Amino acid sequence: MLISGVAAFLLLATPVHGKMPGIPKETTGATKGIVAVSHPAAAQVGKDILQQGGNAVDAAAGIQLALAVVEPQMSGIGGGGFMMIYLKDKQKITVIDSREMAPRKADPKMFLDAAGKPVPFEQRHTNGKAVGVPGTLLGVETALKQYGTKKLAEIIDPAIELAETGVTVNWITAKHIKDSEDKLKKHKTAGEVFAPGGKPLEEGALLVQPDLAKTLKLIKEKGPDALYRGEIGAALVKEVQRTGGAMTLEDLKHYVVKEREPVRDTFRGYEVVSMGPPSSGGLTLLQILKLMEGYDNKQDGPLSAAYLHRLIEANHLAYADRAAYMADEDFYPVPKKGLIDKEYINERRKLIQPDRVNTDVKAGDPWQYEGKKAVQALSLTDVTPVKQTTHFSVMDKWGNLVSYTTTIEDVFGSGIMVPGYGFMLNNELTDFDAAPGGVNQVEPGKRPRSSMTPTIVLKDGQPFMAVGSPGGSTIIASVSQTILNVLEHEMPIQEAILSPRIFSSTYPIVSWEDGIEQDVVLKLMGMGHVFREQPENIGNVQAVIYDLENGKMYGGADNTREGTVLGVDAVAFSWAEPAAPKAAEKGAFVVQVNGHPYPFTANQLLLWNGEPYVQADKLLLGLNARQASFSADEIKRDGRLFLPVKRVAEALGYTVTWKAREAVVSLQKP
Ligand code: GLU
Repeated sequence: MLISGVAAFLLLATPVHGKMPGIPKETTGATKGIVAVSHPAAAQVGKDILQQGGNAVDAAAGIQLALAVVEPQMSGIGGGGFMMIYLKDKQKITVIDSREMAPRKADPKMFLDAAGKPVPFEQRHTNGKAVGVPGTLLGVETALKQYGTKKLAEIIDPAIELAETGVTVNWITAKHIKDSEDKLKKHKTAGEVFAPGGKPLEEGALLVQPDLAKTLKLIKEKGPDALYRGEIGAALVKEVQRTGGAMTLEDLKHYVVKEREPVRDTFRGYEVVSMGPPSSGGLTLLQILKLMEGYDNKQDGPLSAAYLHRLIEANHLAYADRAAYMADEDFYPVPKKGLIDKEYINERRKLIQPDRVNTDVKAGDPWQYEGKKAVQALSLTDVTPVKQTTHFSVMDKWGNLVSYTTTIEDVFGSGIMVPGYGFMLNNELTDFDAAPGGVNQVEPGKRPRSSMTPTIVLKDGQPFMAVGSPGGSTIIASVSQTILNVLEHEMPIQEAILSPRIFSSTYPIVSWEDGIEQDVVLKLMGMGHVFREQPENIGNVQAVIYDLENGKMYGGADNTREGTVLGVDAVAFSWAEPAAPKAAEKGAFVVQVNGHPYPFTANQLLLWNGEPYVQADKLLLGLNARQASFSADEIKRDGRLFLPVKRVAEALGYTVTWKAREAVVSLQKP
């Protein structure tokens, strides 16, 4: 009796580990709150606020203001964002939408040149016309008033101090300054702050921002009115007009923060709650997850060709609908139900073939699934480059969560800094279609379509995870893959974040992160996908996760910045700069298919009697040719078999040209 009594007690007292996905086994979790942020100084501000009894919204407000100082290239009071909040006591999820608005003088043709062609992004985004009326400051204050426990004036002090005493420039900020040098110098003021005397600040330099400190003090004293109705706003409008924009003080006065209902659906017994219009993020994310739910992904594994093929195809389908139907729903209705209707998703899933890329993906007709008449969708391809802003996640000791993606659009936004006030202005209006005619065309007072996807995942109505990423349209891919890695592949959160991601919104180009095996890439290329020549970083995910069984909190951060997770009572880490991947050795020649090079390594290529050969198994994989009918052509070198590219490809129906002088074998398939 006694023994079994002790055993029963032990069973009750010992936390049961490992039943919830995403929970790291080796780490002791926090119980008093946790933050996951892309910069350690801002993470510290959030942790301090939690420690001093603030709730998740207070901490999020403090983190945002601190990020505006320590990561000024990514977000700030000159930008906008979506703060998603889970309120434990009300069991409610809401979003504070502080997305930028188009000024009243904006019009659908404002990004066309004299010939009626869209001005290229590179020119259009550094002009005052690209600046949307900013919402972040009013958004932060609204969130605090509605759901926080502290006042803006109490939360802002650490940001003022960081601006006044300075922050050490880290490796990633130094890189961003260097990469943006021309843009920063274009309008002078920002150049003087980030490249004083014309020299970009380097890693280790102290970034002191007295003008920004002055601005934050004014806000502490006068509240957001200092910007929306006061001297900061007057200076802002003057600079926007000087650089080609038409924003006025009236536009600032009429800025409105909106509280929004998120969009939601289930995935494998979890509820995924994400950002609805004016973001395309949530609906596209839910479409991808629901399309993927129809497969046994776990069995194939997260880095298998079969899984990645389906994932790419699911992305193509979802992004096609995104381009056609998603925009600011205060201007155009969005088929929010139809897009994630079960029947509709099942129909769309039928367009995914198991071993061949679909070269002709079009938007579907989700309106039919809402009982509305079929609509001819106008699809515009999203061609703006990948951006990077910032995402952070917070959980407090009461179980409230914040998932906040916040932006000034491009790195350093428009490059325009408000003279004398020290903060960067966004270029968010470039998120509108540059050409008129679609649901996302520029219109006065409208919010540009976003991809930001702050997300909260619930299990049985309880908080489980807060996750999000920057990265422009790649955001949705990063968030969906992190969620799939946790819920489908059962990776602990940190591994789920670091696991290599892919991004492909339209056929055929696929961006990919280092770590996907060459054979997998070749196999996918054999199915018709085109992998970019070099891997690249995609997104920057910060997440917090909660073990409902033992009441512990954990976090994950990305290593492409100084991502930091700080728990109030346990968990503390920051990422150092990752080692740069070694440049691949150049081979004797390049093999291209329809102009796209294959990722063969130097030792897989061989020139024999002036003819190009490729290691047999790799060539056959990349050309999706399984037959052994080429054995007569094989030659053996260093114990490996090689095949002549020209003969094999021609036998498979390609037209082949071998340009010996340029060392390029070019394969064309009609
Ligand atoms: N402007 C982008 C969007 O709203 C955000 C850029 C980013 O977060 O990287 O989709």
